[in-house]
Amino acid sequence: MPETALLLKLLFTSEPLSIQVHPDDAFARSIGLSNGKTEAWYILSAVAGAKVAVGLDYLCSLAELRTAITDGSIANIVHWYPVHRGDVIFIPAGTIHAIGAGIVLAEIQQHSDTTFRLFDYGRQRELHIENAVAVATVGPRQPQSPPERWSDARLVLTVNPYFALEQIDLAPGSVWTIGAPEETWLLAIEGHAELGPTKLSPGDAVFLQADHANIKAGADGLKALLAYIGPTMNPDALTERSAANYIPRPSTNVPLVPTSPGHAAPEQPEAPNCQS
Ligand SMILES: [Zn+2]
Repeated sequence: MPETALLLKLLFTSEPLSIQVHPDDAFARSIGLSNGKTEAWYILSAVAGAKVAVGLDYLCSLAELRTAITDGSIANIVHWYPVHRGDVIFIPAGTIHAIGAGIVLAEIQQHSDTTFRLFDYGRQRELHIENAVAVATVGPRQPQSPPERWSDARLVLTVNPYFALEQIDLAPGSVWTIGAPEETWLLAIEGHAELGPTKLSPGDAVFLQADHANIKAGADGLKALLAYIGPTMNPDALTERSAANYIPRPSTNVPLVPTSPGHAAPEQPEAPNCQS
């Protein structure tokens, strides 16, 4: 794997993850890091009542935020939302957020592991009060643009300066070309497909860069997430081909990639890159 600008991860939560915030690029650079962290989540499954926290219930001052972190009352003023399969949540840098228990989600993010922790449910890990206060947006979340339908197969979930995230739905047996001039991540979430000689099943992810790859949906179709570098949606990221002309380019061997390098496991409640 080359060093990438984005990361795709799968997170499984058996207990709530810490309340946290990530810096933007400007703040990250001011402390010697290469970039900040904007992320987006796609909920793959959620138990009844599962929820995430995004932003605060109300606007407060920095002094109030500092006090709320110090005395733990921050846990009472983050705004919790119930989540369900298929929900998309955009977390711009500076947004205070947390992921509750009982959720499986795919996260696409700027490649960064810089996390400032505001509350940790008594787990005794260090809090990062000064940095959190310096980068946090102290109020309710900004409204999020709704997904935009681009075609029958393509639903654009979010486009921002860092990445575009699409949900793609490929009809059974249909054939497509994925255009990946820059780094592009594909995560199968339902159904099956063949991408060159690589077989895709739910949970499988591939990484493409400076490449085109033919993909043929299986008999049950394919639903997948497609993520690539922003700041604009790429019309050529997915183009339909005639199934009659399908040639699985034998030269394209796209290896499956680990979606959370070294750390994805159902028994692991926290992804270190989002937590440590
Ligand atoms: Zn995060």
